[in-house]
Amino acid sequence: MGTGLVAPLADLVLPRACAGCGRPGRVLCPRCAALLADPRPAQPRRHPTGFPPTVAAGGYAGSVRPVVNAFKERGQADLAAPLGTALALAVSAVLRAARDGPGGVRPGPGRPVLLVPVPSTRAALRERGRDHVGELTAAAVRELRDAGLPVAAAPLLARRGRVRDSAGLSADERRANLAGSVVPVARGRRYGPGRDGVRPALLVLVDDVVTTGATLTVAAGVLAGHRHARDAPVVGAVVAATPLGRRAVPTDPGPGVFTVRDL
Ligand SMILES: [Zn+2]
Repeated sequence: MGTGLVAPLADLVLPRACAGCGRPGRVLCPRCAALLADPRPAQPRRHPTGFPPTVAAGGYAGSVRPVVNAFKERGQADLAAPLGTALALAVSAVLRAARDGPGGVRPGPGRPVLLVPVPSTRAALRERGRDHVGELTAAAVRELRDAGLPVAAAPLLARRGRVRDSAGLSADERRANLAGSVVPVARGRRYGPGRDGVRPALLVLVDDVVTTGATLTVAAGVLAGHRHARDAPVVGAVVAATPLGRRAVPTDPGPGVFTVRDL
């Protein structure tokens, strides 16, 4: 909808304010940024079967909500850097857990950690005019590489078909809605470290927000079977996790083949 041009222009003429609390100054004030610098495991109250071990940088509540929404829905592109930092913190935490875990994941030269964005629907991409999860992923990759980690973005998944807006759906309905809509991308060889012959050490599904875990669960199942996965463990990292309400996530078997590994 043209927000890609409007947002940078608005930056030139409008005074900046924190997207979380409105305080004048930075796009994300230190107090609101601190809410996204507290990575911890994100678990639906009851795991959907196949839900990957996932870390969130913060809770999707309070002033974090307007920050994520300003970036996602209102195209406030200058939030990509601070939200990318938050995502990088979540990736670092889940990587640390995978290193220290029973599998002893060891990334290094030729054994990269691949960040796989959870794909948006085509309708959402059209509506927003941009791929906000792709932007977050790129920002996180820059941070992690600066820190010396062998990390690359690998868009190995895509969405197909028509999927209803998942807002207001139960976890069960979300999963039924999603089944078959997340597909492996065949053009994976374009993404350097994901090309044939390279064995990733770890696959990290990345997204902005995890709510019921249904999307991450479906995506993890598809990713585990991807020809570029090559038996690498699949984990998740998100900017923020929604605290679950009274509606519980059902424990019936999911569509994926992925086995949950404990952190
Ligand atoms: Zn603030």
